[in-house]
Amino acid sequence: LGAPVLEALQHADVAALLPRPGGESDKYRRGVVGVAAGSARYPGAAVLAVSGALRAGAGAVRYAGPGGEAVLARHPEVLVTAGSPHAAGRVQAWVVGPGLGDGADARTTVSEALATDVPVLVDADGLRMLDPRTVRARTAPTVLTPHAGEAAALLGRVREDVEAHRLDSVRELAARFGATVLLKGSTTLVADPSGETPVRVNATGTAWLATAGSGDVLSGLCGSLLAAGLAPRDAASCAAYLHGLAARLAQGPLSAMDVAEAVPAAWRNAM
Ligand code: AMP
Ligand code: MG
Repeated sequence: LGAPVLEALQHADVAALLPRPGGESDKYRRGVVGVAAGSARYPGAAVLAVSGALRAGAGAVRYAGPGGEAVLARHPEVLVTAGSPHAAGRVQAWVVGPGLGDGADARTTVSEALATDVPVLVDADGLRMLDPRTVRARTAPTVLTPHAGEAAALLGRVREDVEAHRLDSVRELAARFGATVLLKGSTTLVADPSGETPVRVNATGTAWLATAGSGDVLSGLCGSLLAAGLAPRDAASCAAYLHGLAARLAQGPLSAMDVAEAVPAAWRNAM
């Protein structure tokens, strides 16, 4: 018998992994997360990704993209740059993709983020413009967060096929892209590129999470944990854990922003 194939993230694991700011910590040491998301057509995705990032312990959030006005209207704490990631200051991890659309600007944004030497999380529209060779050539970790439909497109299969073979699909994607892959769904699976660690499974979520924008909140949450220095597999699985617990604590029908707002309560609960 070999090593276990799956592992459930336990409450005690999350409590041990979540960063606790010490007396000597400052906002830079807590981590600066960069969010490159949103477009004139989809400004809300930027607001939601930023809202997730702001509530998961980062010292600061930088936003790069065309949605700065909408972001600032909701979150005055954010450092806004109108341009693409290269125009923004130093960050410890990038979140790229939600609401980007598929134009030339979106492609530039994704390739600039991937060209950095810090961890990059790619979600949503960003997943539609990924070349496995570019991702594999990165020196810093990459995290991909597809739902079944996005995973199917990345694998060149149909969604039903991914849904019927979730464990194989997440491992195959991780190997093909040399990335940590978080496959969303009613349970969430997280696989590492090495294929040597068990796939983490998280089931804290509720069906109310199937609401527009909730994935954007998750990407921000995970980006914040990456910026804080968690290993990609730990950041992804703790983010899924907190995101699901936040939905559970919000009890009942919720909007994506409600999930983001319940994250601090989920964090207290997990500690
Ligand atoms: P997205 O599809 O990008 O909007 O992301 C949706 C989020 O909701 C992901 O975190 C999913 O794992 C979660 N989710 C969707 N459907 C369910 C469900 N039935 N039960 C639990 N979580 C879900
Ligand atoms: Mg999504």
